[in-house]
Amino acid sequence: MSLSDYPFSREAASRVKETGYSLDGLLDEPNPQPRLSRLVRKRAIDRVLGAVRGEISDGQAHPLAELLSYPLARVMVSCLNDDLLTRRYALAEAKLASKKMVREDLGDLLLLARDLDVHPQSDQGGLRVHFSDYLKAAHRMRSPGWKLVNRSLEAGWVGVTSQELARLLEERAKDRVQKGLPLQVPVEICQKLREDLDLIEAELKVKRAEEKVDLGEVTEDAFPPCIREMLSQVANGTNLAHTARFALTTFLLAVGMEVDEVVGVFNTSPDFDEERTRYQVDHISGKGGTSYRPPSCATMATYGNCPGEDRLCRWVNHPLSYYERKIRSLKRQ
Ligand code: SF4
Repeated sequence: MSLSDYPFSREAASRVKETGYSLDGLLDEPNPQPRLSRLVRKRAIDRVLGAVRGEISDGQAHPLAELLSYPLARVMVSCLNDDLLTRRYALAEAKLASKKMVREDLGDLLLLARDLDVHPQSDQGGLRVHFSDYLKAAHRMRSPGWKLVNRSLEAGWVGVTSQELARLLEERAKDRVQKGLPLQVPVEICQKLREDLDLIEAELKVKRAEEKVDLGEVTEDAFPPCIREMLSQVANGTNLAHTARFALTTFLLAVGMEVDEVVGVFNTSPDFDEERTRYQVDHISGKGGTSYRPPSCATMATYGNCPGEDRLCRWVNHPLSYYERKIRSLKRQ
């Protein structure tokens, strides 16, 4: 296992300390180690720009630069102190590490797990994670397969495969990366990085503008699995639970459907009462003075309204974000 593949680990942090390099030293001009300094700075920008764009590229070229670029990238993220950037950065670092984890042998995966405060047991009976560690890692994972009630649990231990362990560690890595951000960075350091920060800010602006695309007409092909499932239940005449009706109504209104159209969606429900439904949809749409936003994925999961994650679900925390991303990808096709 290469420590530079997991720069957020405690062991990697100790290795950085041992090298004796300081941030000031790396940013000083003239620099005693100009080549290394250039490589570290370039890779740190790569990390943050990659996170803004959605994926950090694999950087194998120079293990020491790879290792040192991580703390510098965190400093850059902290200087910008932007919630969206911080979340994207933590997610992208965790995804990058996850690609490497699936290639590790079990021994190295176990070492990394311990570093991330997960303490699996592995013997002839298989691989197990204590339920308390399991919950710490899996609490945001919404697919029913990850729910503790759907797992085999023996004396407090949850059986997992090595791929599942890697997925759990990805979640722990994301928490580890996000922990402590933003750091308190002296103004002078941020000033030394101004040119790089301007570049990142410009990219962030482009990303934000792209994400504010006009959603245009309602595109059912872009609906997330939860909404498609609810629509199919309504079409089959199933009565939705209150929380699901609320989620479906708020979502359809948010993507631009008119009150009449939303009322029409429910007219196959066995208990359809047009007047009552119209009153409720009107109220939710804001006629009563308050408009409501659809619930987040976490709330959907809590009420059993998330049927499970597809690939895109893993990148979003709100059904509307799913919809917006899917629309953008459909427009690119
Ligand atoms: S993860 Fe979110 S968007 Fe995906 S199905 Fe669940 S609630 Fe819907």
